[in-house]
Amino acid sequence: MNPPQTDSPTVSSQAQPWHSLPPEAVLEAIQTRPEGLSDAEARTRLERHGPNVLQRVSGESPLTLLWRQVNNPLIWVLLASAGLAIALGKVADGLIVLAVVVLNTLIGFVQEFRAGKAIEALTQMVPENATVLRDGRKVTVPSSELVPGDVVLLASGDKVPADVRLLAGRNLQVEEAALTGESLPTEKRVAPVPASAGVGDRTSMAFGGTHVTYGTGTAVVVATGGATELGRISQLLSEAMDLQTPLTKAIAVIGRYLTIAILVISVVLMGVGLVRGYGIAESLMAALTLAVAAIPEGLPAIVTIALAIGVQYMASRRAIIRKLPAVETLGSTTVICSDKTGTLTRNEMTVQALWTPKGFYTVSGVGYAPQGELRRDEQLLSSLPEDARELLVAGTLCNDASVREKEGASELTGDPTEGALLVAAAKAGLKVEELRACHRRVDAIPFESENQFMATLNEDGRGGRNLLLKGAPEVVLRRCVLNDGVDADKVLGEVERMASRGMRVLAVASKSLPASHDGLRNEDVTGGFRLLGLQGMIDPPRQEAISAVGACHTAGITVKMITGDHAKTAEAIGAQLGILEDGRAVTGAELAELDDTRLREAALSSNVFARVAPEHKLRLVRALQTEGQVVAMTGDGVNDAPALKQANIGVAMGITGTAVSKEAADIILTDDNFASIAAAVEEGRRVYDNLIKSLAFVLPTNLGLALILIVGVAFFPILRVAGEREPLLAMLPTQLLWINLVATVALALPLAFEAREPNVMQRMPRHPDAPVLSGFVVMRTVLVAVLMCAGATGLFLWEYNAEVGRLGHELALREAQTMAVTTVIMFQIFYLLNCRSLRDSFFRIGVFSNPFVYLGIGTLVLLQLGFIYLPFMQAVFNTAPLSLEALGLCALVGAMVLPVISVEKWLRSRRTRDERGAGTRLPLRVPRRATAG
Ligand code: ATP
Repeated sequence: MNPPQTDSPTVSSQAQPWHSLPPEAVLEAIQTRPEGLSDAEARTRLERHGPNVLQRVSGESPLTLLWRQVNNPLIWVLLASAGLAIALGKVADGLIVLAVVVLNTLIGFVQEFRAGKAIEALTQMVPENATVLRDGRKVTVPSSELVPGDVVLLASGDKVPADVRLLAGRNLQVEEAALTGESLPTEKRVAPVPASAGVGDRTSMAFGGTHVTYGTGTAVVVATGGATELGRISQLLSEAMDLQTPLTKAIAVIGRYLTIAILVISVVLMGVGLVRGYGIAESLMAALTLAVAAIPEGLPAIVTIALAIGVQYMASRRAIIRKLPAVETLGSTTVICSDKTGTLTRNEMTVQALWTPKGFYTVSGVGYAPQGELRRDEQLLSSLPEDARELLVAGTLCNDASVREKEGASELTGDPTEGALLVAAAKAGLKVEELRACHRRVDAIPFESENQFMATLNEDGRGGRNLLLKGAPEVVLRRCVLNDGVDADKVLGEVERMASRGMRVLAVASKSLPASHDGLRNEDVTGGFRLLGLQGMIDPPRQEAISAVGACHTAGITVKMITGDHAKTAEAIGAQLGILEDGRAVTGAELAELDDTRLREAALSSNVFARVAPEHKLRLVRALQTEGQVVAMTGDGVNDAPALKQANIGVAMGITGTAVSKEAADIILTDDNFASIAAAVEEGRRVYDNLIKSLAFVLPTNLGLALILIVGVAFFPILRVAGEREPLLAMLPTQLLWINLVATVALALPLAFEAREPNVMQRMPRHPDAPVLSGFVVMRTVLVAVLMCAGATGLFLWEYNAEVGRLGHELALREAQTMAVTTVIMFQIFYLLNCRSLRDSFFRIGVFSNPFVYLGIGTLVLLQLGFIYLPFMQAVFNTAPLSLEALGLCALVGAMVLPVISVEKWLRSRRTRDERGAGTRLPLRVPRRATAG
């Protein structure tokens, strides 16, 4: 397969065998240069080619979604009931059952559809960027704006933003599972490959959607968007989130058991009716009504909606959920393992101290002063000691960051650690751009966390070459030849001194090489360096992280800090954050020595881990999990992906995180801030609370309706009216269905919007295996159902007996039944207010904190007034208009639930005060620093 070439730069990688052409030919064919396009040219090409995005196929079509709503055993039972009722001549009843089904299905469908859309929209909240050369300048642009001809820079952890032809590379390895299914990384090289090579063998190309796992490279874009290899198979790219979670599954199971139980009870009820002398149609209708009234058909939709609302709230608090189960898991998190730099600290590095073998200098806002004294003296710039100058210059050359003046302010691109070195040099009056021009870079080994150093080969300005090395002091010192009366212990002592003041310390060294040396090999950086000195920079903790750590402790969550930094730096920052109180940091080297048992002990008992490599993170997560902890773990690098996947909640950084880490994560923080994890935990707990609230509302009201019917059929007398046998019932089947139709959805849904309870972060984490149908929910269901049944049937009997003499059977029955229905509605309204908080009175959580509740109540009241007073409704439902007094009585009986549940809450709060788990027992080993709150 060797398709003909065309002149147009618009062709896709399909039309041109880019992989078989040498780089220069590719650049020429695509009309671009090694230093990239100009901004103007990029804009024109963008218009021509369109944005570099793939058409996403949504996971579920609306039809599938609708079918999923209908294809549910509950719904089938209801539909069969409707058919049977109509066949038996009970057309009105049958139609109302149908209305219940249609309404529930529609509401479920619309809400789930919207929830799905909202969740899909989340993916766009985490921008994908690419680093490109435009006119030789390195800039970051949204990946969607890439065009053929753009020259992109690739580094480990990046997602390849489009199909690209490699122009240069250093140890570049790309994992192409998204395209070829092969999960082992492929090495990429510049050399052309035969035109006939298959996608997996085109080693001179990297394809959009694959991931760089190692090394760096420069490449030219040859195809974007739908023209890429991945674009051609994009139907595989379903971005939709799976809406199933452990909770929705648990509720589906509960729903199935409930349905079976209710069907059995319905059959029994039919038998009871027949034995007591009901006609066949009446008995059947009673059984059907029971089924419809008792089956919580709206529940699955409510759960999904509550989860989706949680996802949206979390997004507004800067935590983007990538996997829906995380919403639930967050609520039971017991340990958060967090990176330090940028997450717990501000990632605003400022060099504060320099050390060279000749002296110690403190960096002020103005200049440098020997031995710690600050000199605000402009003269200082000219008298900058040679040793300090050499250290600062090396720091700017062995450095990939750049500072650009933009609208009067300086803007830093690149790693803040390196930015700090530039700023320090600039403060000393050094001109970074000029230095970089005189000491042109010949080659570089980029910084990788596991190496802890970076090296560059620069022209030394005197015709030779200078190899510069900067990195963690232990790593650099090992490669240095020390003299001048300086030994390694002295330097390391200096490092400790700086680090114990919370500074991140970098050592810088250099070595001269002949001009003939024009490429870096790994053996060049193994030794023979001269130590230039140390630069110590501070990165203060985020204020909000300090409070968030405190909040986590109160919530029974242990916070552990895992950092690549020096142990002393970690201890100092850990102490400032309130994570490390008296202990000390455990280092990665120490972890490596421990067997699994001792590792588990260390993982539990220590809160600060320093000089940790990604593989240690994985072991730590596993160790904590073995101890029964539910672990949230942050990570940003490409090698953090396994630990993120292993953690119960993998948390990636939206700003500084690599694409690989984001894809492995369950949550992405859009502000990289630890406080957002704490916020997400808080939201997770709220969502779970609200689900339990919905359950605690729906189950009792359904059971209550069923009880009213059961009590009526089993125990109420059968009257003889005008020679006919007529069973006395507190409610007609149609009336019961009316309640089911209007109340459940109007009232239960608003609970999903309920605000956080004031004490959500003062409880212990929920046990992940705690059953949804907890003792509390079951007890509440029975209590409320019995109360509701007693209130409604009691009032019915009282009213009927009081009025039957005056109004006659027919009218008295209508009035008493209308009152029974109204009582149930009132009861539900009052009970709803009660359910707004599971533990507190709703006055404490704010009477108006959830307007949706009042919207639901208002709607319901209007509908019920129609039910009572509209002639048309009176005809369909056999109702009678009620006097104001009768209405008041219904409200009064309905309000009975308020004092009863208040007493129940009070009793429960007394009982659970010591447990602090409210409905769940203390789950796990109490995290070390959890304070009683
Ligand atoms: P944290 O885990 O707290 O986020 P980190 O993972 O960012 O920290 P690394 O970036 O792996 O930590 O840095 C580890 C060590 O490598 C640092 O203590 C520092 O000495 C050194 N280092 C960091 N950045 C650079 C760099 N750009 N060039 C050279 N050395 C660096």
